[in-house]
Amino acid sequence: MQLKSFLTVATCSISVMLSACNNEGSSSVTQNNQDEKLKLQPIVIQGALPVESEQMASKLDQVSTETIGGWKFWKGTYQGYPVIISKTRMGMSNSAAATAIAIERYKPIAIINQGTSGGHDPKLNVYDIVLGKYATNIGAFKTPSKPVGAGSDALQWHEAFDVLPADETDPEPIAIRKFEADPALLAAAHQVQPLYKQGKVIEGTIGSADVWNNELDRIQFFYQNYGTSVEEMEAASVAQIASQFNVPFLGIRVVSNNITNGGAYDGATGEACQEFVLNVATAYMKQRLKTN
Ligand code: SAH
Repeated sequence: MQLKSFLTVATCSISVMLSACNNEGSSSVTQNNQDEKLKLQPIVIQGALPVESEQMASKLDQVSTETIGGWKFWKGTYQGYPVIISKTRMGMSNSAAATAIAIERYKPIAIINQGTSGGHDPKLNVYDIVLGKYATNIGAFKTPSKPVGAGSDALQWHEAFDVLPADETDPEPIAIRKFEADPALLAAAHQVQPLYKQGKVIEGTIGSADVWNNELDRIQFFYQNYGTSVEEMEAASVAQIASQFNVPFLGIRVVSNNITNGGAYDGATGEACQEFVLNVATAYMKQRLKTN
């Protein structure tokens, strides 16, 4: 037995000291637990816009900020776990850059990309949350050939272009590539699912592109051919970069608008999603602490 634990046991055997001793014991356990948590690498949680990131950032303790290029990061702890909030700005390029910087700079244990989205599935209501079992690029195509004057019809774009083919020598990699969620992150999200009271939480496919689709036929095309539950502008790009670095990834999107069923845009959904995602991150870090 080490001297410190021997002394603790010896002191505890004196009954008059018991209550003071218990307090001291539990605070040193708390301290040890805290030290263990800080040994974990940080989890990165991304949001594109201020309304999708600043609420989480305001909940961090011991917070400091770092801006690299145009991308802002808040570093701190949440419930004792190291957490980095990243404001990626909108779209595929911004989110890819913010992801590569975060991975190189902070060596994260995992990345969660979260925020608002538009529904493709008519069964999804504003405030429902989609756990991205898959994230897929819905902006990469090889279009049919048409002569001058023949026009353009996006509903005829049936060939998806895989921008990250396994075979790099293939000049025309035609495939719908889906990036799969990390199973442990997905499990953590399901674990805290009952805490979310503002809508349902389901697994689905997140479609991403630098496009806001408002054509219902186009939306139905993605829903039927890509199996998309929602669309937004970042998750598949982040998934692609995370996969290249082998960093566990999960996209989590709240439905903020759904024109397939008349669901009007509600910006407050972004806050609900951030709250849920902090619970997911904590559950995941707790699990990693146990398995480390
Ligand atoms: N807050 C803005 C909307 C943001 S614009 C407004 O009030 O108009 C685009 C951002 O919102 C992107 O970061 C994207 O990820 C997300 N988004 C939400 N709904 C979307 C939709 N239907 N299509 C594409 N992106 C959507």
